[in-house]
Amino acid sequence: MKVKMFAFAALAAAPIWAGSLEFTPQNTEVVIVPYAWRDQRAVRFAAQEMTNFLSRAFGAKVPISDRINPAKCSIVLGSNTWSVAAGIDTTKLPQEGFAMRTKGNAIYIAGVDANSSPWVNFGYFPRATLFGVYDFLERFVGCRFYFPGELGEIVPRLSSFTVPDTDVVSAPVFKERFFSESVGEWYDPDFKDKRYMQLSKLRLRMQTRPIPSCHGLRAFKYVQRFGKTHPEYFLMKKDGTRDIMDTEKPPYCMNNKLCFSARGLREEIYQDVKAYLTGLPPESRGLARWGMNCRYREYVDVMPEDGTVHCHCPECTAAYAAAKDPKDESNEQIWGYTIDIAERLKREGVKGNIMQMAYSTYRNVPDRKIPDNVVVTVCNNGSWVAPDRAERDYAQVKAWYGNVGKVKLYSNCGKHDCLNLNVPDVPSSTPRSMARFYNRMAPMTRGALCSNPADRAMYCVFNWYVFSRAAWYGHVDTDAILDECYRLMFGAAAEPMRAFFDELERKWMEEILGRSVDTAIGTANLVPGEFRIWTELYSPARLKPLVALVERAEASVPPDSMEAKRIALMRREFLDPMVNHSRKYSESLSVEKERARRAAARPKSVVAGEFKPVTIAVDKSMTGKPFHAVKFAADLKPGRRYRISYFVKGEGIRALSRRGGAQAVVWFNEAADMAKVVPDVGLDGTFGWVHQSAEVLVPAKLRCDFRPEVDLRMFFATGTAHFDGLLVEEVK
Ligand SMILES: [Zn+2]
Repeated sequence: MKVKMFAFAALAAAPIWAGSLEFTPQNTEVVIVPYAWRDQRAVRFAAQEMTNFLSRAFGAKVPISDRINPAKCSIVLGSNTWSVAAGIDTTKLPQEGFAMRTKGNAIYIAGVDANSSPWVNFGYFPRATLFGVYDFLERFVGCRFYFPGELGEIVPRLSSFTVPDTDVVSAPVFKERFFSESVGEWYDPDFKDKRYMQLSKLRLRMQTRPIPSCHGLRAFKYVQRFGKTHPEYFLMKKDGTRDIMDTEKPPYCMNNKLCFSARGLREEIYQDVKAYLTGLPPESRGLARWGMNCRYREYVDVMPEDGTVHCHCPECTAAYAAAKDPKDESNEQIWGYTIDIAERLKREGVKGNIMQMAYSTYRNVPDRKIPDNVVVTVCNNGSWVAPDRAERDYAQVKAWYGNVGKVKLYSNCGKHDCLNLNVPDVPSSTPRSMARFYNRMAPMTRGALCSNPADRAMYCVFNWYVFSRAAWYGHVDTDAILDECYRLMFGAAAEPMRAFFDELERKWMEEILGRSVDTAIGTANLVPGEFRIWTELYSPARLKPLVALVERAEASVPPDSMEAKRIALMRREFLDPMVNHSRKYSESLSVEKERARRAAARPKSVVAGEFKPVTIAVDKSMTGKPFHAVKFAADLKPGRRYRISYFVKGEGIRALSRRGGAQAVVWFNEAADMAKVVPDVGLDGTFGWVHQSAEVLVPAKLRCDFRPEVDLRMFFATGTAHFDGLLVEEVK
């Protein structure tokens, strides 16, 4: 098959050849074979998408036909006798690729498809014809799919469009393409059951063939199988006992910790992998079914459980001691275990690949040579890191690429708790930095998972969009893509909206992410606490320029236009929550308001004795101790709810850790998880008297020696804090 490839961007300049087809509302038909209605559901859905968008473009219904009418202009979808006659052989296409070819009065679009409903399995089914449909709509009709729903879809109104003589094969550069779900609500309640998410994945051409590479050993269920018979397979705790726990519930990092020195365990893992790859039933290994870590009889993920913990057995201890860097203490051990499996599979003639992730304390290229049946995934934080960390991440991927060729990337860059990025109402839309990251990594990347959840799904959509372009084409022309996006979405308001989104991105990248540090579970950002975010970085005053940009955008488009509706959506999703949060937070700091409330409500404090104002001053010589506190006994009763509130003033408070600063702690018991810190990240800087408060629920079951108390303290910080007006009152 002769294949001409041409780039999307070059299309505008492409000449119209003599053999071009002119599609009009009168002559256009979408054609599928009759049995596609029942037996080719992915093709059927492709036809529905095609006809729906063409009908919107023409303002007239475009029919779906089950035969080719030579008097019409046909768009023939799916692999069938017609597409074969047109010269398309889908068996010769690259993985997930589609062909698009004009012949006579028709254009044929076909790839490998499954008979699957579009609404199942995250889109994990072959649907290459659908990829071609979206490509056609973008390329020839001018549609864009920024996000699902009328406001996120660009469908130009046309009286006709022309398709030149075309012969194209297109396939994704990244063989795996995945972004994680948002935890937030979708703007349009008409999208039930997260259908917006599925539609996003379909239209942004996400992966059809997931390859497991994330804590796969969990699925082999070693606790259930060997917890009683072979305790030596499991991690030895400091006290010499074995960590044999399997909750089968998140957080998974709490369970299934293994001892990778245990020869018996390593033999079991090997036999499990071999059994799967050679087609044996799961029962042969004492399992009811093969788990998520096994796919296509071709891949087995042998990555350890999350939450890397030190095994205190003598052999593991010796292995860690030999490590070049204590931060990467299990590097040679985990890669050694992986390489042993891979080499033995080869020796025993077993075909297939094993997956391992460069992560945590085993993130580096090992000394031993890695065989070519190991697929390496490299974990990092994507573009959401400080420049110095970005260079280290790049160097790490480059080192792996130099050793094993293209790697898969697993990038954690969402508003995760574990990254301290659970900062509600602060927009995390960062398409430019995402594009920069993937453009740079693409030549070394075979697939990418972008974990980018947020508290509002709209914060993610432009990130997902640029990710999808990078993943399919291997490169994003960021300025061109975003300029076009703002122009098509907002018309005459494109410029203020571009400035609005660019400023949101700058604030997130520079002010929220700021600096990062390494922790046991990966990189963590030194994210500012809510006091600094809402009184300084996103204070009502600092948000004024953003408000002005949106107002300028609103004034530059006709009321009730599509552009006006889109700007209203962006105001509702991006601007208003931020402005409202900032204002409410500022109000909550008011000492006068709290004094007035107390005067009216006359609450009874459960703090023992008479409260006297407290000053805590910490200088550099005192930082050997993490905190300096003044303690008050409090009569807290189990199972009851209390409100703690106090006033605080700061003089030159400098935090020495992420949570450092002035704060209060309500202790229910001595263990750290039996306390409530108010606020979670201490207050720092120089500031006048402010009010702080929070509600706490005292656990119903407490230790018998329970002696509740409230501390006012300076935590990992230098400077001076003045506290006054401590009040702990019961809330009914
Ligand atoms: Zn061990």
